[in-house]
Amino acid sequence: MQHLFEDWPHLSQVFKTAGQILLLADFDGTLAPIVARPELAEMSGRMKLFLPHLAKNSHFTVGILSGRSLSNLKRKVDVKGLIYAGNHGLEIETPNETYIHPKAIEASKLIRKVKRELITNLSPFEGVFVEDKGLTLSVHYRLAVSEDSIKIKRIFSDTVRSYIEKGLLKQTEGKKVLELRPPIDWNKGSAVLWLIEVLNLKNSLPIYMGDDKTDEDVFKVLGTGGVSVFIGEASASSRAVYYLRDVSEVEKFFEKMEGLFDK
Ligand SMILES: [Mg+2]
Repeated sequence: MQHLFEDWPHLSQVFKTAGQILLLADFDGTLAPIVARPELAEMSGRMKLFLPHLAKNSHFTVGILSGRSLSNLKRKVDVKGLIYAGNHGLEIETPNETYIHPKAIEASKLIRKVKRELITNLSPFEGVFVEDKGLTLSVHYRLAVSEDSIKIKRIFSDTVRSYIEKGLLKQTEGKKVLELRPPIDWNKGSAVLWLIEVLNLKNSLPIYMGDDKTDEDVFKVLGTGGVSVFIGEASASSRAVYYLRDVSEVEKFFEKMEGLFDK
């Protein structure tokens, strides 16, 4: 894994030669710093400036893929002309159409039921927060005392086990978050492939930036056909080829990208 700016002389030529760039990023931990309460996450003033600039630049198609619900993500980012994918790509909005995975709508009824069970079973723990994201559900335990983590994970697993075993729901895990999803083989990677197809972007060079496990699905589908950027310190467990240390380096990257096609 190489720091992206170290390879800038080469990469900038690759970007210029490509001409058309599909610039995709995760939100939390990539465009906005991670905070203890997800509802308080905010992009910096600089980031809020760069995104609309890039979106208006004819060389770029810009999209954000998040574990947040589509409505929550759109409210947070609030920039016109972007592609938004919520719930890890289960719901996607492009400037021209909205897509919701049909099986996800089915499973969402069961998720409401499990939500009530989880709220009851996890009520003894301080700092645990069950977030209803419509098509999926997240249990956040970043604010819980660390000694409780194992117990919280076990209660979560015990509560959802029968549904998982019957193939009615799927369980995933992120940074201090446990998630319930519809039992569909659909992730951020599938969403990116769907976007490339539907928006006819096969001639664009895809770039994807993300900091978490669910972002690895995109790094995997891009392979050598795109530029994958892990956000964080260089990590052997990521498939990404490049890394940027934090959100402020992502801002610098956007500034450099804008500069490339400015003239
Ligand atoms: Mg993230």
